[in-house]
Amino acid sequence: MPLTNLSNPLSAESMGLFFKGVKIPKRQAPISLDMMEAPLPARVILPLRQYIGEPATPVVSVGDTVKVGQLIATADRDTALPLHATISGRLAEVTEHLDCRGISVPALIIESDGADSWIERPQEHNDIDSLGPSEILTRIEKAGLVLKALAPIPLGADLIARDQPKTHLSLNGRQVVRRTDTLMVSALDMEPSLAVNRYRAHIHHAELTQGIAALKALTGAQRTIFVVDKHYPPYPQLAELVAADEQEATRIVSLDGRRFPLGLPVPLLKAVLGREVPLPYGHPRDVGVALYDLDTTICLGSSIQQIPQVDSLITVGGGALARKGIVKVRIGTPIGSLIESLGGFSDDPARLILGGPLMGIAQYDLSIPITKDIPALFALTRDETALIGHYRQCINCGLCVRVCPVNLVPGMLSLYCAKDRFETAERQGLLSCLECGCCDYVCPSRRPLVHLFRHAKQQLMEARQ
Ligand code: SF4
Ligand code: SF4
Repeated sequence: MPLTNLSNPLSAESMGLFFKGVKIPKRQAPISLDMMEAPLPARVILPLRQYIGEPATPVVSVGDTVKVGQLIATADRDTALPLHATISGRLAEVTEHLDCRGISVPALIIESDGADSWIERPQEHNDIDSLGPSEILTRIEKAGLVLKALAPIPLGADLIARDQPKTHLSLNGRQVVRRTDTLMVSALDMEPSLAVNRYRAHIHHAELTQGIAALKALTGAQRTIFVVDKHYPPYPQLAELVAADEQEATRIVSLDGRRFPLGLPVPLLKAVLGREVPLPYGHPRDVGVALYDLDTTICLGSSIQQIPQVDSLITVGGGALARKGIVKVRIGTPIGSLIESLGGFSDDPARLILGGPLMGIAQYDLSIPITKDIPALFALTRDETALIGHYRQCINCGLCVRVCPVNLVPGMLSLYCAKDRFETAERQGLLSCLECGCCDYVCPSRRPLVHLFRHAKQQLMEARQ
């Protein structure tokens, strides 16, 4: 039977629910879906905090030898996550180091012994049905998984039940209370030029079934929707899961992955289900959906087998890099070592970005490590970088308003932010901004809009601490 019959695809366009954002040209669409494995780095820098929360507490001392997967820092608070060694070798230093946001955090530095020796892995391979929700959650937390998102948080914290009434949310004056009825697993990446989830959709992963079962057990969702990019068929395992569901409660929705920011939760839920996540501070669970990407779901499946997270799949791209594609890299690898191991630069890099070209954070130091929250590394040439150089005054063209997926007036907001009128910007909806960068992308005056919004949000946050 053809895949399309099995998958029963819908299209967002035909539903007429998603009409803002931008369409990324095909030439900027994802790169090769082949996976490369980065060689072992000579040293890793492991920040004790790779998410929003408290740092983990080290349980090893300088000079100790460690093996891959060994616990090196514990989480003694709910908002912390354990940390594991990602190479074998010697703990060389405990020091402060900058993370990709430019924040100095305590970090452990391990020098490799080149042996890549692992701890003994547990033999216990429990079936998901024999584990209760609390044991599933414990295993996810012990694996140290982080949700890669605008505000990266420990995955376990994101999964804690949200079915109770919430006091800080209201939609048209009503409190938002909704039971989770849908598990949505998305094969779209945050940005069209990222490709890890698209790559994952092509390959069979034994852990995917367990990840889905764990998410259903934790959230109580009765049906599953897979979201795929219509430009990147096939997705054989997803189609098999649809066919195997005798209850017919699993389906595939096929969307145009070149529409941006369709991969972000707020527009995605609106496009697929017509549900609007309340902003600011809303969460997909507030409208009854547990939403996770394919990569996270597969990592979650591995965590059930008690395998700690020591590496990460990231997209590596940009015209200045010699090799591009999907790379499996040990967490803590400095970006300079990673670039060198992939053949270095093929052209002068005008901008180095951790994350995608539209939403990522510019970097100025090659010693910044790859952390669990980072989905991509891009080295852009001058031709690929629209924002380098002087920006001009806003000409009130309104293009940014036409593309903003959450109906803000970015040009006006940017003027308030540039004049340090942060509270006025807040009243105009600043905190609902998804930082998607669509407004930057279309602005003919090349105004650094998202940069101004991030700065303003940071100032508001600091003022309230
Ligand atoms: S204002 Fe925010 S949400 Fe709207 S387009 Fe710009 S970055 Fe995206
Ligand atoms: S797109 Fe740029 S120039 Fe046009 S209104 Fe928005 S900020 Fe102003």
